[in-house]
Amino acid sequence: MTTSHILIIEDEAEIANYLRRGLVLEGFQVTVANHGYAGLQAVRETTFDLVILDLMLPGIDGLEVAGRLRAASDIPIIMLTARDAVADRVLGLERGADDYLVKPFAFEELLARIRVQLRRRQTSQTSEILRFGRLSLDTAARELRIGERRVELTAKEYDLLELFMRHPNQVLTREVIYDRVWGYDFGGESNIIEVYVRYLRQKLEANSEARVIQTVRGAGYIMRDE
Ligand code: CA
Repeated sequence: MTTSHILIIEDEAEIANYLRRGLVLEGFQVTVANHGYAGLQAVRETTFDLVILDLMLPGIDGLEVAGRLRAASDIPIIMLTARDAVADRVLGLERGADDYLVKPFAFEELLARIRVQLRRRQTSQTSEILRFGRLSLDTAARELRIGERRVELTAKEYDLLELFMRHPNQVLTREVIYDRVWGYDFGGESNIIEVYVRYLRQKLEANSEARVIQTVRGAGYIMRDE
């Protein structure tokens, strides 16, 4: 197995060095960028396997950096922040972060989250075609087709749809969806699932197709043909 290369975008040298030392000891190759532009530049020059991104950065902030990274690639992003506001977490995830850690956090916790993201990425690189009705999802290309028509999905829309397609005709609770798509227990405070289900439905029903992702009141969602 090749060494995973992690980019840390963090302006506080003490934290960046602490993380770098820890990750190098765990066998990762690590690059540190101390502001957002340097981080974006590094991503253009080198292929990384994962980005650890601090929310509070001088110049362009972490949310902006996440948005630009996500627009350019589907590299896993773990966001760090000193803020504990749910609104920030939601914003970070909407901008394309895959996971989120509130400072101060235990290094072991970060390590666990990194491994989840890297593993998920490896699994998603093994090729498989999932089918449901007229939908077919290529898990290697992360590509959706409805009949012959190719449909563009964002990273999170894809993750959500893949989850449904792996569990057809089965009710998925909000807790399960949070856990599988966003990687941890998000609590009940956010409407992020509703937002993403709405995005997905818009795309899946763009040509007046029948609804396949259905709401099960008080329980969650289910993918089924009516
Ligand atoms: Ca910072």
